[in-house]
Amino acid sequence: MSLASLELSNVRKSYGATPVLDDVSLSMEAREFIAFLGPSGSGKSTLLRIIAGLETLDAGEVRLDGQRIDQLPPGDRGVAMVFQHYALYPHMTVRDNMAFGLRNARVPEEEIASRVAEAARVLEIEAHLDKKPGQMSGGQRQRVAIGRAIVKHPKLFLLDEPLSNLDAALRMRTRIELARLRQTVDAAFIIVTHDQAEAMTLADRIVVMNDRRIQQVGPPMEIYSRPANTFVARFVGSPAMTLAPVELLPGDGPYARVRLGSGAEVETRIPRAELPAGGALQLGLRPENVAVAANGSGAASAKVDLVERLGERTLVYATLSDGQTITAEDEGYSRVQLGDTIGLEIDGATAHLFDADGNGHHAEAQAQ
Ligand code: ADP
Repeated sequence: MSLASLELSNVRKSYGATPVLDDVSLSMEAREFIAFLGPSGSGKSTLLRIIAGLETLDAGEVRLDGQRIDQLPPGDRGVAMVFQHYALYPHMTVRDNMAFGLRNARVPEEEIASRVAEAARVLEIEAHLDKKPGQMSGGQRQRVAIGRAIVKHPKLFLLDEPLSNLDAALRMRTRIELARLRQTVDAAFIIVTHDQAEAMTLADRIVVMNDRRIQQVGPPMEIYSRPANTFVARFVGSPAMTLAPVELLPGDGPYARVRLGSGAEVETRIPRAELPAGGALQLGLRPENVAVAANGSGAASAKVDLVERLGERTLVYATLSDGQTITAEDEGYSRVQLGDTIGLEIDGATAHLFDADGNGHHAEAQAQ
């Protein structure tokens, strides 16, 4: 089977007068697993449906393996889509559901039987081939829906929120199965999701979408540790990154030193020379950059609004003296109580700065 390489160039789409995608370009590598991540309404499904051929584009091009596909009917594109609602035929067996598309395409019966058997083996549903969808659990039905895509031997799988109908435990299991599937299937994958954990665990690269545009494309940890702008910074990571207005302090050191509204000073590892001259700045702190200090010491004092015990760690939501809210981390057996006044240690070494345009500036990459 040939390897997929998808190329989107300057794709635009409006519904009537409402623009939905504004100049979207993206290159995908062979066998890559990409996640479109973004809030509801950011255009993720529309983009996926344009690639699948279920939606037309107003401008731009879609190429797969170098061949232009945006004018081809869905069945001729070499892609297969898996929907959130499995859309199985209830009166047909699992076997016939999986075979249906191939029969329509007049694939010889022998070939159909071998492809269905192979997909059933990969998905471990061989024992259910003669059941009707109504006799199966949600997770099994979702596997049949994936099986129906696998038998088409697509170059590219398009998955539209395929796990969102499943309960939490099943979602986790199916996520692991999808990760395994991509090891065994010689194809590329795009998954649409609003669930960052799903995107982080499955994808080689995440495409973060908002406001009709791609905000950032990168491997999961790059998106997490070097967010391009305040939208990505707040959208990826849970709980969300604290963003606090700061003042840049004068100095001749290579790195920016800033002061929070409450007076606490933070020494970053962000090259001063990279920051725009003048203009507002926001400091970005992940919970793991802010620790509860022993005995109320530490650079900043804060009042505790909420204590969230997660077992292996405790999240502390607090307010600094100037009213700025901040999220800190403490050990699992934290003694912090609601209403306490606590000291916070802020570790500026991996903190972020965002300029007046919202663009991110990050610590210099550590030498390996
Ligand atoms: P997402 O998948 O990120 O939730 P969608 O691609 O479904 O976003 O939708 C993007 C925007 O396009 C939304 O504002 C949505 O209301 C609008 N939209 C989607 N489909 C249609 C349609 N068929 N007609 C009109 N507007 C639509």
